[in-house]
Amino acid sequence: MGLPSCCRRANVPRDASVVTVTRVATDAIPLEFRLEPTGDEVLDQILRKRRIVALERIAEFKERYAVQEMTPPQQRFLSDSTFLRYLEARDGDVGKAADMLDNTIRWRTERIDGRPCICPACAKSASAHCFIPLGEDKRGWQLIYSCAARAEDKHSDSSVTHMSVTLERLFDGSSKPGKIVWLIDMHGFGWRDFDMSMATTVVPMFSNQYPERMGQIVILDPPAGLKLIWEGLVSLLDPVTRRKIKMLRADKLEYFRTYCKTDAQYAFLDAVLQMKAVPGNLPAAEMERVSAEAHVPDVTRV
Ligand SMILES: [Zn+2]
Repeated sequence: MGLPSCCRRANVPRDASVVTVTRVATDAIPLEFRLEPTGDEVLDQILRKRRIVALERIAEFKERYAVQEMTPPQQRFLSDSTFLRYLEARDGDVGKAADMLDNTIRWRTERIDGRPCICPACAKSASAHCFIPLGEDKRGWQLIYSCAARAEDKHSDSSVTHMSVTLERLFDGSSKPGKIVWLIDMHGFGWRDFDMSMATTVVPMFSNQYPERMGQIVILDPPAGLKLIWEGLVSLLDPVTRRKIKMLRADKLEYFRTYCKTDAQYAFLDAVLQMKAVPGNLPAAEMERVSAEAHVPDVTRV
């Protein structure tokens, strides 16, 4: 199913073609599209290759969309940064990127555009969800702390709404460039927190509707069983995904020291990880300080 004819120029071929990049120099990328180093040189090389291919194809990709004829929320969403993200997610294949972007435009029409950008569950109860932005880290990525055991509301659809509203607020209708670091605190995790529908709703939402937003997933203090399963699975994952996921235990404080940009971020993470993981149990003073410094959006009001 494609977009309405008013949204796309007619007679545009959708065939894919393969692009090979042999030179991957930082200076091959214009300054405004330069990537921040991730601290992982191999990953940086892969991301730079993708960026160069995407920049080569962006004009051709944009040609497919009659943006000026679309709705105001769609016009805001369809920034150069958005076109780049979709191209990068599909390794520069314009046809596949267009399929993906069309899908997101439909999803946004159904769930996002023209609706209040709030989480109804958190508006009713402050401890409904635990998905807390902490501001930018040293790489320019948005740190987000989450803990399933600190959330009252375990419904996957409600969690998806909260996460998407947070991303919309952080990236101005998902139009601005930027990535997140999803810090997943496993303290207090139990089967009551595990909902299979979470895996079938949250993961597709991130990969299909917010491609290239995930800078890193950091799992804090995973149970021994999960770490073992991970070590078995890791070789099956593609190199980018593998490099984006970290499991930290004793080494988590070193990670925070390396990547936290402010003392308030470090103080919050250090404090919260020492508190019992039950709904609403958060370090009040540290939370207030980090929220004020990071200008964290309030998802309970417009
Ligand atoms: Zn919420």
